[in-house]
Amino acid sequence: MKAYFEEIDIPTRSRRELIDITGRVEGFVEKSGVENGICLVFTLHSTTAVIVNEHEGGLMNDILRKVGEEFPQGAGWSHDRIDDNADAHLASTFVGPSRTLPVKNHRLVRGTWQNIFLLELDGPRSRRVVVEVLGE
Ligand code: ZN
Repeated sequence: MKAYFEEIDIPTRSRRELIDITGRVEGFVEKSGVENGICLVFTLHSTTAVIVNEHEGGLMNDILRKVGEEFPQGAGWSHDRIDDNADAHLASTFVGPSRTLPVKNHRLVRGTWQNIFLLELDGPRSRRVVVEVLGE
């Protein structure tokens, strides 16, 4: 089995933001030489998440709005007493730090409207995402 590992550096610009990393992930799958297997996309931070969905401006705003509605900033969270970003940790916890996609015939398998995003929840900061391609 092959295991190909890369890290992506992502500078973010807003407190909450979606950054499309599909092209970079697809490039790593190509470079990996893996014909059939899986591709893990994992963020190295407790205040970001990884999602798969459509790259459409309205929907991207809706996702960020929903995150804000579900996890409002400064809502009396205990962690805010020491770090003022409990909302970001909570959203990261419930959305999740990773997604796994299939790899078939040297290509990432995804639907037409499925792009891969880093979800920034406490930016702007410098972020790192790991991409690991496993297979034969
Ligand atoms: Zn914190």
